[in-house]
Formats: sequence, C-alpha cells, structure tokens
Amino acid sequence: MIEVLLILALIIITALSLVILYLYRNYVTPIRQIKQAAQKIYEGDFSRRIYIKGRNETVKVCALINKIADKYQSVQQKLDDKVKELDRCTRSLDNFAYVVSHDLKAPFNSIKSIAELFRIEYQNKLDEEGKELLHFIDIKVAEMDRLLQGVLQYSRVRESEESRGMVDLNILVSEVLKEVDPPAHIHINIKNPLPVVFIEKDLIYRVFLNLIDNAVKFNYKPEGYVEIGSSSDENWHNFYVSDNGLGIEAKYFEKIFNIFYRVQEGAAPPAPGVGLAIVKKIIEYKGGQIWVESKVKEGTIFHFTLPVIESQQKKTENKLQEAHQ
Ligand code: ADP
Repeated sequence: MIEVLLILALIIITALSLVILYLYRNYVTPIRQIKQAAQKIYEGDFSRRIYIKGRNETVKVCALINKIADKYQSVQQKLDDKVKELDRCTRSLDNFAYVVSHDLKAPFNSIKSIAELFRIEYQNKLDEEGKELLHFIDIKVAEMDRLLQGVLQYSRVRESEESRGMVDLNILVSEVLKEVDPPAHIHINIKNPLPVVFIEKDLIYRVFLNLIDNAVKFNYKPEGYVEIGSSSDENWHNFYVSDNGLGIEAKYFEKIFNIFYRVQEGAAPPAPGVGLAIVKKIIEYKGGQIWVESKVKEGTIFHFTLPVIESQQKKTENKLQEAHQ
C-alpha cells in the first residue's frame, strides 16, 4: 500500500514539475523577455526585437511589440534625418551670414576711409549743414560697423576658437568681471561657488560677459546690485544673473533674444543688440535653455541651464585614465 502511495506521489510530483516547467517555458520566460523589450523601447532603444516559438497568445503579443518597435524605429530615423537636415541648413545659413558680412567689410571699410579723408580735406570748407551731414555719416558708419561685427560674431558661434575642456566658472567669472570693470556703485555678489563645466571656454565666457555686462549697463540706480549664482542636480546646471536695474516689460521677454533687437533705442549706450541673441544661440547649441524674469524698475533675472552629462562623462573618463596609469 505504501509503495502504491509513493508511486502515486512520485507521479503527481513529476506531473506538477512538468506543468511548472511548461508554464515557465511558455509564459514566465516570454513575459520576462516582453517586459525587458518593452522597457528598452520605453527608454528609446527601438532596435530590440523578441522572437519566441510557439502558438500561444504571448507569441502574438511579441509580434505586436516588434511591430511597435518597427514603427518607432522608422519614426526615429525620419526624425534623425530631419535633425541632420536642419543642422545642415543652420550651418549653411551661418556660413552665408558670415560670407556676406565678411565680404561687405571691404567696401564698407573703403567708405569709412573715404569719409575720413573727406573730413580731413573739406571740414573747414563746409557750411553748418555740410558738417551736420558729415556727422550723420559718422553715426551711420559706426552703426553699420557694429551690425557687421554682430553678424560675424553671431554666425561664428558654432565655430568656436577653442576645444572643449573642464572650465572652472569661478575663475572664468572673475576674468569676466575684470573685463566688465563695473563702476564703484554697482555691487557684485557671487552667491555660491560655481561649478566646473565641460565646455568651450570662449563660448561660456561670452555668455557670462554679455549677461553681466547688460546687468551693469542697464542699471541707473544710485546703488546697483548684480548677483550670479548656480545650483546643480545630476542632470542640469542652473545658473542665474540678476540685477536691480531698469527691468524689461513682459511683452519683450521673447523679442530681446532676437538678433538686433533693442527694447528702446537710445535707452542705453549704443550697442548692436546682438548680445542676447548670441547668448541664446550658445546655450541652445550646448543643449540648454535660457529665459528671463523681470519687473520694470525693479530688476531682471536671466536664468540658463546647461546639461551635466558631458562634464560627468569627462570626469569618468579622467578617473578611468587615472586608474589605468
Ligand atoms: P545690446 O547690444 O543692446 O546690449 P542685447 O541683445 O544684449 O543687446 O540686449 C537686447 C535688449 O534687451 C537690450 O537692448 C535691452 O533693452 C534689454 N536688456 C538686456 N539685458 C537687460 C537687463 N539686464 N536689464 C534691462 N534690459 C535688458
């Protein structure tokens, strides 16, 4: 009797094991594969496909997931092609702007020299109206000069003079402050130690130079305050440059980033109105964003972000190199 019971138990255990094995092979393993593939697709890796033999429902689910991946992969490919095309267009536009402004410089410099020669030769022979007209020529020549310089600078953003490297922004901002040389009534405060970022030094220099220069320039208060600060998380560096100056009306928040846009002609010392356009182009080229908050007569804050990824990559590479040495 015991032997019969033992044999029966053995048969039941074997049958159960076979059922479990069947379920495992036909359902648990495929479901795991489906989960992994779905996760990869969700993360943007559309190259993953699942192949499972059999006839049950999981096979149909796999086929559906593969179709979704096919579709996303082709959409992704089209998107990549468009991005490349857009990049090519931007580069050729930049190149066009560069060539035009560069070629215009030669005849422009001739006009400038002829006007100067005319002044030297004929200044004393001119009546008041003639002198006034000559003065207008000077003003327009200076304006044209600034515009050409502006277009040249704007078109060269992607052609940085320097290669990327680790840049200590504390040192960089102190160099910028030396160049801006703010008057005594403008107080500069660096809120916290700034990070080290992996970037082209000349590009990030131009960003801080334009923002700090504007913060100082557009401030007619007896005591001016400019603050520079930052915070970082694992993905982004967030920076700001704030001031208690003139402020900007909300309706100009977008327009001020357009090339040659100035809020009020004559509201500040003559400038070409390209500074913020260049800053925006640099920040976006580096994968960040820039925006402004402001209240008229109270002050302005320019915020901008830069991705951390590249600098982290560089740090990791450096660590690996050190470890290998
Ligand atoms: P600009 O060459 O005139 O400095 P920008 O492109 O740097 O040109 O700035 C565009 C306009 O935005 C400026 O003419 C000014 O009116 C406004 N602006 C920029 N920064 C500030 C600021 N910190 N405070 C007030 N207005 C500002």
